[in-house]
Amino acid sequence: MSNATQLIHSIPTDPLTGALSVPIYQTSTFVQEAPGVNRGYDYARSNNPTRATLETLIATLEKGQVAAAFGSGLAAIDAVVKLLKTGDEILAVDDIYGGAFRLFTQVYEKFGIKVNYVDTTNVDNVLNAITPNTKLIWLETPTNPTLKISDIKAIASIAKDNACLLCVDNTFASPALQQPLTLGADLVVHSATKYLGGHSDLIAGIVVAKEKELGAKIKFLQNATGAILGPFDSWLVIRGIETLHLRIQQHSRNAQAVAEFLETHPAVQKVFYPGLASHQNHEIAKKQSKGFGGIVSFTLKTDTEDAAIKFVTSTQYFKLAESLGGIKSLVSHPANMTHKSIPADKRRAAGVADSLIRLSVGLEEAEDLIEDLKAAFIHLENNSTFSHKNNLVTSIST
Ligand SMILES: *Cc1c(COP(=O)(O)O)cnc(C)c1O
Repeated sequence: MSNATQLIHSIPTDPLTGALSVPIYQTSTFVQEAPGVNRGYDYARSNNPTRATLETLIATLEKGQVAAAFGSGLAAIDAVVKLLKTGDEILAVDDIYGGAFRLFTQVYEKFGIKVNYVDTTNVDNVLNAITPNTKLIWLETPTNPTLKISDIKAIASIAKDNACLLCVDNTFASPALQQPLTLGADLVVHSATKYLGGHSDLIAGIVVAKEKELGAKIKFLQNATGAILGPFDSWLVIRGIETLHLRIQQHSRNAQAVAEFLETHPAVQKVFYPGLASHQNHEIAKKQSKGFGGIVSFTLKTDTEDAAIKFVTSTQYFKLAESLGGIKSLVSHPANMTHKSIPADKRRAAGVADSLIRLSVGLEEAEDLIEDLKAAFIHLENNSTFSHKNNLVTSIST
């Protein structure tokens, strides 16, 4: 869906009452006329009208046939892994979300599902790592937190040739920027906690399937294992999606300005943002997405955890927190936060340096965000105990 008018009007008004906003059907069950005779709903784990509206909406946005909403992004990822059986292998991007790594290694390895991690930015690595047992290729693009971009179309064709599924975690781009199913992927997953929700006020996950048959398997797992999204959180995600296109455009504009500023700063070693010409995958990013999103990462010339911690604890507008994709800017130190569960050598090898700092650039004025970063760099250089954040708190409280 390319058009805001289409998006806004694909959210239906309530046929029963005419309510303009989608009603929240806060119910566990539905009255039946006779056993098995109902209006399409019998029990709210199996189906709920509010959740169904969200699922139809996101399926439309991602150009898929079927969507299923889960209680978290990880529950959505979990449902996709459950399509596999003992002996099957996953080929996954090496710079993978820490929670997905933990799920694959600490939960599914003991059930006999093996995972091979490769740098998927090089398509040959994918080709070389495929075995007869590879049944699922797992991509994140852009990746978290070093914003690597993989060629979805090229990898989709490898998946097809080798009879395995391609699933793309589209959390960072969102369907407003990138639609993996149109590039040949079979499945898309989202942490709707991030840009789809957009306001840092919920935890939710989505799986979208390109084909009906695969979608039915996901829906079966959603009902059989039960990690559904509740009606109120479904409603919040719908409400978030209503402004997704606008938000993503502004997140991208702000992030581009922040990335360009960081690239000129003498204390910065390297900036990771697909919208920079210096980004190693800039060309493929331009080809497969409509914009570059709101996440920017960078490393410091002083490549130590201490320096990074000093930086991330001194910003004022960039709040130190896990997560991303909300209207308020956030800063994080992946080595100690989202990627803590990945062993240090593996983490560094995947490009998550000790001083790597990740910004989720929000919807504040770009100039204010840049001023905030400038002040944090001064704090870093001064090597003093002065913090402009503390200064601010003092000035408010006095
Ligand atoms: C946050 C995140 C997840 C996990 O989602 P939750 O909603 O926190 O369970 C998965 N993938 C990516 C890329 C994420 O950023």
